[in-house]
Amino acid sequence: MYAWGIILIPEVHLAFFATLAFAALIGVSAGYGLVWGKVRNETVGLALTGAIATLAIYVSWAMWVPFVLDSQHVRHISWVKLAQRPAALWNLVCMINQYGTWSTSSSGSATNGWELWGIWFLEAVTVIGMGMFAGFAVLNHRPFCEACERWCSRGAKLVLAAPPDVAQLKLQLEANDLRALENLGLGNKAVDHLIVVLDSCEQCRQFHTMSLTHVTVRRSKMGKPTISNKMIVQHLQLGAGQAETLRQLSEKVVQTAKMSPPKASTTAAGKK
Ligand SMILES: [Zn+2]
Repeated sequence: MYAWGIILIPEVHLAFFATLAFAALIGVSAGYGLVWGKVRNETVGLALTGAIATLAIYVSWAMWVPFVLDSQHVRHISWVKLAQRPAALWNLVCMINQYGTWSTSSSGSATNGWELWGIWFLEAVTVIGMGMFAGFAVLNHRPFCEACERWCSRGAKLVLAAPPDVAQLKLQLEANDLRALENLGLGNKAVDHLIVVLDSCEQCRQFHTMSLTHVTVRRSKMGKPTISNKMIVQHLQLGAGQAETLRQLSEKVVQTAKMSPPKASTTAAGKK
């Protein structure tokens, strides 16, 4: 669909979006494959997603070339046969590059030569880079319990107020001191906040990890928010007692939220 779609989409921004979507889909699929295969080694995971994304871009080329030749009524080739002959594929790609197939400007002359090589190179870098990024994100989403040989599942997720000193909080947590978290209180997603995630092994209930993301919300003068996420700790291992503390804290936060829902705007209300 990508190889065919990229011919049908004349608009350059949309074509780039199609490339991004293709890359993300390849990466996420590869990532779930790695999760299914219980791959824990990050280097192996990255190498595999990179190889799969490279294969994907190669196959998309092997399909794209026959589509182009067909549309120009040159001749009909089966992509399966073309994919098995890289030298023939390369020669056809070089030939197509001389003429180009589409144009970025409204004047109409087709983009070709070095400019087209540059665009194709960027396309390949996008698919491989984005594919590896997406695959790695899927693979790193949940921790793995080595004792039970299974992935953990979500134990709790809570939104707390942003801490005054993020670096200090990180030190305290790494020293296994969760008291700093308990004192933070309920967070509001409209302003800076902290997302705390507890992942636990459902089988042994002995393996627990905590991940923290610091979310900063900056507003422009027009009120348009810019949100940036920064992972403070990822899959920090917790003891059973600490995991229980976190779970109780989560329940407490949920109850507090029910009693007093956070207001989207607290400024100027009731003031004169
Ligand atoms: Zn386990």
